[in-house]
Amino acid sequence: MTKFVYTFGGKTAEGKADMKNLLGGKGANLAEMCLLGLPVPAGLTITTECCTAYYENNCQLPAGLMDEVWKGMANVEKLMGMKYDDAENPLLVSCRSGARSSMPGMMDTVLNIGLSSKTIPGMLKRTNNPRFVYDSYRRLIMMYADVVMEKSEGIEPADGKGIRKQLDDMLDEYKAAHNYKSDTDLTADDLQKLAEDFKLKVKEVLGVEFPDDAKAQMEGGIKAVFKSWNGKKAVSYRKIEGIPDDWGTAVNVQAMVFGNMGDNSATCVAFTRNPATGDNQFYGEWLINAQGEDVVAGIRTPNPLNDDTKNEQNKHMHSMQELMPETYKELCDIRSILEKNFHDMLDIEFTIQDGKLYMLQCRVGKRTGVAALTMAMDMLKEGLIDESEVVMRISPAQLDELLHPILDSSDEKKHQVIAKGLPAGPGGAVGVIALSSEKAKEYQAAGIKNILVREETNPEDVEGMRAADGILTARGGMTSHAALVARGWGKCCIVGCEAVEISKDQTNVTTDAYGKKRVNVVEANTVVINGKVYHEGDLLSLNGSKGWVYDEEIKMINATENPLFQELMTIVDKYRKMGVRTNADNPADAQKAIDFGAEGIGLFRIEHMFYGENSEVPLEKLRNMILANTLEARLAALDELEPYIKESAKGTLKVMDGKPLTFRLMDPPLHEFVPQTEEKQREVAKARGISYEDLHARIESMEEVNPMMGLRGVRLGIIYPEITATQFRALFSATVELMKEGFNPMLEIMVPLTINAAELHHQKRIADKVKKEVEDKYGIEFNYKFGTMIEIPRAALVANQIAEVAEFFSFGTNDLTQMTFGFSRDDVNSIVKTYLDEKIIAADPFNNFDSECVGELVKIGIERGRSTRPNLKCGVCGEHGGDPTAAEFFYKQGMNYVSCSPFRVPVARLAAAQAAIKEARAK
Ligand code: PEP
Ligand code: MG
Repeated sequence: MTKFVYTFGGKTAEGKADMKNLLGGKGANLAEMCLLGLPVPAGLTITTECCTAYYENNCQLPAGLMDEVWKGMANVEKLMGMKYDDAENPLLVSCRSGARSSMPGMMDTVLNIGLSSKTIPGMLKRTNNPRFVYDSYRRLIMMYADVVMEKSEGIEPADGKGIRKQLDDMLDEYKAAHNYKSDTDLTADDLQKLAEDFKLKVKEVLGVEFPDDAKAQMEGGIKAVFKSWNGKKAVSYRKIEGIPDDWGTAVNVQAMVFGNMGDNSATCVAFTRNPATGDNQFYGEWLINAQGEDVVAGIRTPNPLNDDTKNEQNKHMHSMQELMPETYKELCDIRSILEKNFHDMLDIEFTIQDGKLYMLQCRVGKRTGVAALTMAMDMLKEGLIDESEVVMRISPAQLDELLHPILDSSDEKKHQVIAKGLPAGPGGAVGVIALSSEKAKEYQAAGIKNILVREETNPEDVEGMRAADGILTARGGMTSHAALVARGWGKCCIVGCEAVEISKDQTNVTTDAYGKKRVNVVEANTVVINGKVYHEGDLLSLNGSKGWVYDEEIKMINATENPLFQELMTIVDKYRKMGVRTNADNPADAQKAIDFGAEGIGLFRIEHMFYGENSEVPLEKLRNMILANTLEARLAALDELEPYIKESAKGTLKVMDGKPLTFRLMDPPLHEFVPQTEEKQREVAKARGISYEDLHARIESMEEVNPMMGLRGVRLGIIYPEITATQFRALFSATVELMKEGFNPMLEIMVPLTINAAELHHQKRIADKVKKEVEDKYGIEFNYKFGTMIEIPRAALVANQIAEVAEFFSFGTNDLTQMTFGFSRDDVNSIVKTYLDEKIIAADPFNNFDSECVGELVKIGIERGRSTRPNLKCGVCGEHGGDPTAAEFFYKQGMNYVSCSPFRVPVARLAAAQAAIKEARAK
């Protein structure tokens, strides 16, 4: 028979710390604390396997479980010197949940189980404290009725009609009727009377008697905890945290100890180090004469544990260090035993019953990014952990937190979230609403922090995006233009925030002097968020790491300039084997990325020179090329464009001196660069000296039904070979000119959107011809690498043929995801949302790399490519290159590098190092 019950207590235990999967975090660590010889009230843990069996068995406890529980309880009784359900010397227990990974407050707990008309007299005799006994009894009735009799029975009362609320109201009414201010004014008689009234109310509301039988209470408590694994709160929490539904929870049944037995008793929650700053200080709060739930529920303001925990608000309150110096010293010893054993910062709960200390829980404590860094570096110096563990201790999300100014989370908690979108660019931003790029620039010029709020962003918004402190869009996904650009700049950005409606131009109707009706268009200049109207100049705060929007000012904190950061990154690079490059297309971003440790550029999108600052002239030349009707006109336009491409390339090649730089030939559909509105088209037509009608007709003729699958990428270079030739000429000339100036440009050029080797041969012939011309012109020979992007499934499948021409592959996982799923990158958002809610897909594939299928294509691409060119260099330059959860997959496939936006570089370095350490540890 499967063993479902594991006992602990009296310095021994059947479980231990590494049995978390079976015993849950709480159960495993209670066992471990016993093994360490710490004072822990005896108890037993019912396994997570039992929870699974309970659900498989149609919510029935497995046969024989309760017999095993009673056997385990005999051990608890022996250790505690008391008996459960005994009239003379009764033992009470708590029944708590405890999953593999902590789900704080998401599941249910019942305390004081075992009080009944049979055991109460014994409790009264034992404690000689009737007030305490009846207070415990009324708490048991409240918790049990709420958790066991209502929630776990699936009863969903109307708002405010839950049994707990009704009993709470009775308590308040009783206090009011007796002119009592606080719970502590209630006498033993009052509490006894209340307990009797509570039982009648429970019967009246729920139709069932509160069980006056300790054995029935125990069984009810265990079932209710299992049931709470599938309670609403727990299910939503698991969804957010990605905790699998089939893990199940363990149940811990443990002898009760009481912090509410008088002034020599107390309850306390503490961290072995400061969880906010990471400082090596014991940090905690305690309450005299209280039960643990009073601290957590915030009913009373707790006292500081010690001097280190005192602050402006609580410095006048007594600490445990002052009031119970001996117990405090015992606790300090326990703190150091625990840290030495677990090699980490722990979050502990304990109770003092009549001067005696009992440990109730310990677990690895949650911490901020700064704290994680500080603690890991301190623990290295203290010899508690080694360097590889330092690398594993900081999660990519925590490192990311360190690189961006963020909203102060304690201040954030005090405010109401007004809308939620996709967390596209991490960090925080506070500023006033700007509804156009012009307005954002105006605000920036005036030194006013601002948030650019748009329906969606297009290339014309780039300058506004640069000028804004944060970006909020109603549409778009994680790889939408806005998201990509924002991440590249390390800018806070929320996209796909559907609650945001930008009010379109509004009309009003007036009557003119002749009685004719006129329709007037008025620019509304407002944005409506969840029904509330905001104007330009109104304030918003964004949490770009979570995708949350607020309409009040929230404090910001900046954690970037931490000297420990550099120390950490040096250690990270000792373990990292996979390279990290950056996606950058201007000297400033390239420099930023180098400062963050990038070893090259994996993607330089040439077309980005036509967006943003100083782009007017090259954009005009590009438009001339696009709008040209004849080859001659196109060639003339290209001639004028070439020097701009060359200068743009030279600037970044210079910064990257000695480091590889991969340029990608122009990729996007050309219509993105021509004006869309009539007003702009008229402007451009006028400037070009042609009629608006002619220009409009030309632009219309370029329209495609599926531009993402139309004339873009290499297709452009095959239809118009002269466009390819110009780009090669510009890049080659930039290279040789820099060589002549004494620099070491390491040029790589790749062709986008390839489907077969023939396309590459076609482009390579142009490259070879232009190379010869440039070498002849400058009288100098040079080397470069010719490669391709793999971003269409077909290319992955014929990678062996493609690798005969291509010297390197760069996997464009944005398009590869788009083409594999058939999901449009730009506007699939609302569909993905429903797919996630309906559990049709587990995650947004543009955000979380789909290693199952897109990954399979990457794997095939690398394998087949290397079958013909064994030393083929492979990298990833789609947004997933910066996705730390994908790093391990890419590393395992033998990817030479990942490439990501500059601000993601440290995160990618960390994730790559963690992948290598995990691999080494698995061996
Ligand atoms: C890609 O498709 O993954 C890629 C890097 O190219 P782009 O995002 O420019 O289409
Ligand atoms: Mg692409």
